[in-house]
Amino acid sequence: MVGLAKILVVEDEAPIVELLRFNLEKEGYRVIIAYDGHEALNKLRENPDLVLLDLMLPGLDGMEICRRIRGDAATSRLPVIMLTARSQEADKVLGLETGADDYITKPFSPRELVARVKAILRRATMEASPELEVIRAGPITLRPGRYEVYVGDRRQDLTPKEFELLRHLVLNAGKVLNRDYLLDKVWGYDYIADTRTVDVHIRYLRQKIEADPSNPQLIETVRGVGYRFRELA
Ligand code: CA
Repeated sequence: MVGLAKILVVEDEAPIVELLRFNLEKEGYRVIIAYDGHEALNKLRENPDLVLLDLMLPGLDGMEICRRIRGDAATSRLPVIMLTARSQEADKVLGLETGADDYITKPFSPRELVARVKAILRRATMEASPELEVIRAGPITLRPGRYEVYVGDRRQDLTPKEFELLRHLVLNAGKVLNRDYLLDKVWGYDYIADTRTVDVHIRYLRQKIEADPSNPQLIETVRGVGYRFRELA
């Protein structure tokens, strides 16, 4: 989502609009513009992923727009970064009180602005997608989105299939998952394969996460059925 995110820039000063547009488009974002408060409310219907909102605007000011964004169920979780003039120290606090996620004072460095935009979008993506949250079980830590697994503090890189396989086992720790279930969850209905595919990937996975792959302690084989991730305290 980050690379293709749509950003609504609400700003009445054309040179700042162009500076923002140039720097955001360079990063691959799509940019839509509103030059005043009423236009901003209209452009919100285009479902932006983030709003860069100037505080001092003709018509409705940034505070009022932010309040309306938060007050509308359709946009209440939309990330908002306030742009404020450097002298308006009080506005910083007010900007946060109205529910802005962050604020940036003018003049700003484009690089810092882009970094903030990225950070806020990343956070919003994580919150919207609980499946991207870190998963822990015994010595295992899974970091979805990166296909990384840590065994204790030792990192192992998994292939996407190995990762998905482990994720399903860990999320169902203590339960036996049969091969058909795993094949379906990890490879999908379309994939033409037999259940030995699962066994092969379990073997790779054990080589990466088990202290002794020939005597697995984490992923148990349940003969004739499938696999179980051992429930660990
Ligand atoms: Ca302004």
